[in-house]
Amino acid sequence: MQIVNEILEDVKNGKKVEWKKYKMNSLPLGDSYLRISKNISTELNKNYFLNKAILVKNCGTILTFKQFIDSSLKLHSANFCKVRLCPMCTWRRSLKIFGQVSKIMDYFEKNFEYKYIFLTFTVKNISSHLLSSELDNLFKAFKRLMRKKELKNISKGFFRCLEITHNWERDDYHPHFHVIMAVNKSYFKKSDKYLTQKKWTELWQSCLKVNYIPVVDVRVVKPDIVNNKSYKTSIAEVAKYTVKSNDYLLNTKDIKNKKLISYFENRTDEAVMTLDRALQNRRLVAFGGKFKEVHKKLNLDDTVNGDLINLDNNILREDLSYISVTYKWNIGFQNYKLLNFCV
Ligand SMILES: [Zn+2]
Repeated sequence: MQIVNEILEDVKNGKKVEWKKYKMNSLPLGDSYLRISKNISTELNKNYFLNKAILVKNCGTILTFKQFIDSSLKLHSANFCKVRLCPMCTWRRSLKIFGQVSKIMDYFEKNFEYKYIFLTFTVKNISSHLLSSELDNLFKAFKRLMRKKELKNISKGFFRCLEITHNWERDDYHPHFHVIMAVNKSYFKKSDKYLTQKKWTELWQSCLKVNYIPVVDVRVVKPDIVNNKSYKTSIAEVAKYTVKSNDYLLNTKDIKNKKLISYFENRTDEAVMTLDRALQNRRLVAFGGKFKEVHKKLNLDDTVNGDLINLDNNILREDLSYISVTYKWNIGFQNYKLLNFCV
């Protein structure tokens, strides 16, 4: 007879899986959406934000796992909201991206002899009301860049993800792309095709069509010596969050002063509205060239809108026996409590 824990305890590779932490992080976002829905004037927007508040508040309240004989848990079903800013769903998504990029890298390492460059393409910091239009520019510029002959000469494919950081003091935003590009081994030897940092910057500036010099960070990805000289671990680190939750949620938990609480809530709501609007309908993550081909070949689903339950895309062996255990988020207790289990 297996022991079923009264409180959710999920441990993977010796590390605690932080279900409670991510659920707790999602709650202030739900509160913010609710406040916005109350304060906003048009009926259409009211409903839009109210709907998001309900989705986020209910996100991940019921988790059903398969519990195996060694007590390990594998998530089987859950009610994730898939709202882009939801910390719970963002965490699941980043694990998913990590898993997918790792799988593609495994395939590359077996079949090709690529080397990799890690690039960060930035624009100037901008204020909140310009974030959406600046993202338009950023996405267009990246497309232009990929069409440049200098890039076509060297790129075997890329993985690209958007990151936005927010500075609370200056209240400005810093959107940028992290890109991993696969190149042939010969890239570093052939001087006519090799792109210096200066050349990368010039190309990016011309694609952005700006008169300032944007920052482009270029690094050669070094294989992880500890892990069989594999590129996988170094590269999968890029699978980052689009926005870290403390860049749009200010913690008011330990504050007593009512004026300060209301100030913090207003700032939170402004940041949530800005980012919610700016991220709508954006391709937060993209694969190009060989990355795209292999993504398709391996039958991997959409990183942003796809399944957030079975993240590693592995088919579970059906011959392994398990019991089904369900945990429910308990609001007062602020943790996951056992709801039921069946053999
Ligand atoms: Zn969610």
